[in-house]
Amino acid sequence: MSRAAILVREVARASDEAGDGRRRAGGVGARVDALLAPLRAEPDASAVLCDIDGTLAPIVLDPEEAAVPDDARAVLRDLARRYALVACITGRRALEARRIVGIEEIVYSGNHGLEYLPTGAAEPELDPAVAEGARRARDFVLGLDAEDVSAAQLRLESKGPIQALHWREAADQRAARDAARRIARQAETAGLVPHRGRKVLEIRPVAGIDKGTAVARLLDEAPVELGMFGGDDRGDLDAFTVLRSRVDAGRLRHVACIGVASDEAPPELGEAADAVVDGPSGFLEVLRALATAGD
Ligand SMILES: [Mg+2]
Repeated sequence: MSRAAILVREVARASDEAGDGRRRAGGVGARVDALLAPLRAEPDASAVLCDIDGTLAPIVLDPEEAAVPDDARAVLRDLARRYALVACITGRRALEARRIVGIEEIVYSGNHGLEYLPTGAAEPELDPAVAEGARRARDFVLGLDAEDVSAAQLRLESKGPIQALHWREAADQRAARDAARRIARQAETAGLVPHRGRKVLEIRPVAGIDKGTAVARLLDEAPVELGMFGGDDRGDLDAFTVLRSRVDAGRLRHVACIGVASDEAPPELGEAADAVVDGPSGFLEVLRALATAGD
């Protein structure tokens, strides 16, 4: 073999090894990799939890068009086979969440925990304590001045027990936001619970429902000692808080709170997260890192 051929072969092997290194780390930086390593080492004692919109699925103008990329779907399927619990926690309805993510092998907690859809179940279980409040939330939005709502270009979405007003598509964002603010105050006066998200105001039936309570319920039902949560929005911080409080209480040994950055991310996300990755493509690398074999 000529010297040139040997050199070519050595360069090829070196770049293969570099490639392996990147795959082992799943394309994430050393900090994120170190946060994930304990979970990867004990998948049968670990929970992989995440938000959907802005985390698994890129944000799109029309929420109906949101989609989880095939790559992410395949990795989630792989994780579901090996990890004790894989779940998506979302503000969307649970069945809609499963349609968007597109796999039955994982658990869905919809409507910020009001709905719980176990693996393969036909229908979600509903929290029975919220029926009366849900009726009041629906009556409240039906009672809003329709002209005001349409002038501000707020789009109403009924999510069963929660009512949502969206303004992502509104031409005048400030006018829409101001109108949403006024409606939030009215909702509060009416004894309901307004909650702001990314270009959306939700009117919730009762307080004390958030992604934190959703995560708490999921953890209560799974024999896990380590957990990860990935999210891009204010509501996801409640999940971080619950995970950390379980470490403080000695109920979990290790958690990783991963923020998913975007132009619209609230400033608190970076402060609250253990590490921040860049958009859904960065979060896909986190999932890939979890899917590689344990160290
Ligand atoms: Mg989100």
